Amino acid sequence: MSSPRQVEVVVIGAGQAGLSTAWALARQGFAGGSGFVVLDDGARPGGAWQHRWPSLTVGTTHRVHDLPGLPFAPADDGLRAREVVPAYFADYERAFDLPVHRPVRVSAVSRTGDDRFLVRTDSGDWIADAVVNATGTWTRPFVPRYPGQELFRGRQLHTVDYRDAGEFAGRHVVVVGGGASATQLLGEISQVTSTTWVTRRPPVWREGPFDEEAGRRAVAMVEEAVREGRRPGSVVGVTGLLVSTPYIADGLRREVLERLPMFDRITEDGVAWADGSSVRADVILWATGFRAAVGHLAPLHLRQPGGGIRMDGTHVAGEPRLHLVGYGPSASTIGANRAGQAAARQLRRLLHPAAGARSAAA
Ligand code: FAD
Repeated sequence: MSSPRQVEVVVIGAGQAGLSTAWALARQGFAGGSGFVVLDDGARPGGAWQHRWPSLTVGTTHRVHDLPGLPFAPADDGLRAREVVPAYFADYERAFDLPVHRPVRVSAVSRTGDDRFLVRTDSGDWIADAVVNATGTWTRPFVPRYPGQELFRGRQLHTVDYRDAGEFAGRHVVVVGGGASATQLLGEISQVTSTTWVTRRPPVWREGPFDEEAGRRAVAMVEEAVREGRRPGSVVGVTGLLVSTPYIADGLRREVLERLPMFDRITEDGVAWADGSSVRADVILWATGFRAAVGHLAPLHLRQPGGGIRMDGTHVAGEPRLHLVGYGPSASTIGANRAGQAAARQLRRLLHPAAGARSAAA
């Protein structure tokens, strides 16, 4: 077996978070290849975007922010996000000659005897002074458990498996979840068949535009959660549903966004509430979000009783050499950009203090 390769920083994941970190590391003086590498388990560039459902267009995303240094300029809003964003990421990797190794799956990160990090992968191991984890959430879809779930004779799927509303024609679909994905998919599916929408909490409709202040408040709520080691909610999730968004406005007008409270159990042929009411269903679509894909960090024992990882800015509390970018408050394209750059600056100060002093003096 070959001995582990040595590098200063391993970045895990080449989505928005990993690429913005890689760009920033290069700018902070880390040499691509020997100073840092990016390990990504995708077959191609694009992060989670290459797996989004086909009907998600540039115009129906929340907004994909530019990666630092290269504008994202799709020719039109009607283009599929799963095609144009990965093409943009591929251009980006080429333009900045980023040292992305793929497909490489990281299975575990642990500490070495001399307090560095051992990054185990399916194609050789790495030893690094620092790790930036940027593995997103797409590979960890979350489906809550409800009594009777295993009895259901229809089809259950999570949004990660959704492809096209046409496949549900003539079937009654129960959509579960109160976020952007649920409302967007309800809009599509209700054009071809009947639907029921259930959410745990009543939806929060936002009338006005989503301004910077509202964005800051949303990020602050998630920041507080991760400082305390609680499981982070999604930033996009706490922003509320903008009634002016075309697919939401349309869904409200067609009265398909009439929500029922969460059911209490699942039956062989539908869902049922404790008051005795029920809805027959052929399909249950779980638009119930994701969890952070951090299973490979388990040997570091970071998980807190609150279910999350206690953070101090972009790094794990008490461990300035381990950053989580795209986690919690930075789990958006703009948040990932900022966090990637903040992480790279801190790593430069930590690992190249002399260079820091030089550039501060310059
Ligand atoms: P990802 O894009 O998921 O990249 C993580 C990468 O790490 C992937 O390539 C993955 O394969 C790889 N990886 C994972 N585990 C490992 C491992 N163990 N070893 C090696 N590689 C690994 N945010 C916005 O700001 N605007 C939007 O419009 C928007 N739309 C969204 C639409 C949907 C349907 C969803 C689900 C989310 C959306 N978001 C949006 C949130 C969005 O997910 C993030 O903003 C951003 O794309 C996440 O980037 P990331 O780099 O953190 O993760």
